[in-house]
Amino acid sequence: MVKDIKSIEVEVAGEIWVNSEAYRNLLVLCDDFGSRFAGTEGERRAVDYLMGRLRDYGLENVAADPYTYTGWRRGPAKLELFEPIKRDLPAISLPLSPPGEVEGEIIDLGNGDPAEFKRREKEIGGKIVLCTSAPGPYGREVHRRTKYGYGVYMGARGFIFGNHNPGQLPATGSLRPAYRMAGEIPAVGVSWETVSFITRQMERGRVTARVRTEDMIMPKSTSWNVVGEIPGSTLRDRFIVVGAHFDGHDISQGAMDDASGACVVAEAARALAKFKGTFKRSLRFLLFSAEELGVTGSTCYVARHLEEMNRVDLMINCDGAGRAARHTFRVSGPPELVDTLQAVSKEVGYPMRVETTLSTASDHWPFYMQSVPTASLSSATEPAALLLGRGFGHTSADTVDKVDHRGLKEGALVLAQFLIRLADMEKISRRMTSEEISNHLERTGVAEELRIQKCWYQPGVSPLDQ
Ligand SMILES: [Zn+2]
Repeated sequence: MVKDIKSIEVEVAGEIWVNSEAYRNLLVLCDDFGSRFAGTEGERRAVDYLMGRLRDYGLENVAADPYTYTGWRRGPAKLELFEPIKRDLPAISLPLSPPGEVEGEIIDLGNGDPAEFKRREKEIGGKIVLCTSAPGPYGREVHRRTKYGYGVYMGARGFIFGNHNPGQLPATGSLRPAYRMAGEIPAVGVSWETVSFITRQMERGRVTARVRTEDMIMPKSTSWNVVGEIPGSTLRDRFIVVGAHFDGHDISQGAMDDASGACVVAEAARALAKFKGTFKRSLRFLLFSAEELGVTGSTCYVARHLEEMNRVDLMINCDGAGRAARHTFRVSGPPELVDTLQAVSKEVGYPMRVETTLSTASDHWPFYMQSVPTASLSSATEPAALLLGRGFGHTSADTVDKVDHRGLKEGALVLAQFLIRLADMEKISRRMTSEEISNHLERTGVAEELRIQKCWYQPGVSPLDQ
């Protein structure tokens, strides 16, 4: 090391604080390219733009890494009530919904907790399932794909997913992992106000409806993850992967989810690039596509680079970083990584919560399944996040104006400081074995949820070989 860590930190922090490059990138991604949803023109422009930025910043091995997946294009959707009154209700298709038309009685399963599905299993066959995105007690969220999966498994004909936050905002979200398949039954998203209307009608008696979707499924679509590297010195062959998805949902700008995270990653890369050959480990920056189609970009990346995974000492996922000030780390595993990150947070003087949370629905997951220690850098005002769940996320209101410019700078700053310290450590964390991961997932019920989602594969094997 030529310079001491502290003076590098000071230089990097100053570089990020006095520049607005991250915010400028956010405006280009959101205002110029739109949603960047998989399969759109905006996605292709974002890939070219991000590669250009990483090259300009001085990163090495900058490339667009291609893969194929099951694409989907939105068509019009219709939700018509027949009984107890006739009414057309506003609805949008959920990504990977097949085109189709189904009729039946609506069954209300509340927030769609698996326990509720199991309790009412005998009633579900042939019906249209209605459930919301409301978190359970203590903010515990059951993923939409789990609710859809139970619906399909129990013989439902259709699926209606309601936002639990008011504002006439239907929530969107994918139904299946697009690296494998599309959905089986038509599914639509509706606003909280529409859910409320439907459940009021249930107090009058049986509610029957027709769900009609006209979407397009496009097997063998191609997309690209954007990659760039800052080589290390003595541990040059070992990596820290830093990632965020740059795609958003097609109905929105995907500004908070997750253009802001992608801009945080690019900004940390910019500030660190001139220190190539300085830190022990190499840093690999990955901007993933198609995360919003069931964590598809990162899963395909891991499948394509499976033999490199034993050289990745840490994966930091920035889904949700930079949209607000105040950042937290959520460690998927191993639990010892919490201590490492807490120690670094002390050293750099940034007070933050570091906790263990097993969340399967973002880009750290395929790395975790290959025994890579993983942590997610996220930002939110905590009490609000517990109440709101995704808040404006996954709705048309996820726009640039929701992102705190200060949060972008803070996210990049914290990330860069952590990377400087972590890249230079002799050892970051122990790795969990495939068996340990498998046992943990079975014991906690996560494996069962992933099976229902059709997202399950054995830890340590390729996610595409199942
Ligand atoms: Zn996201």
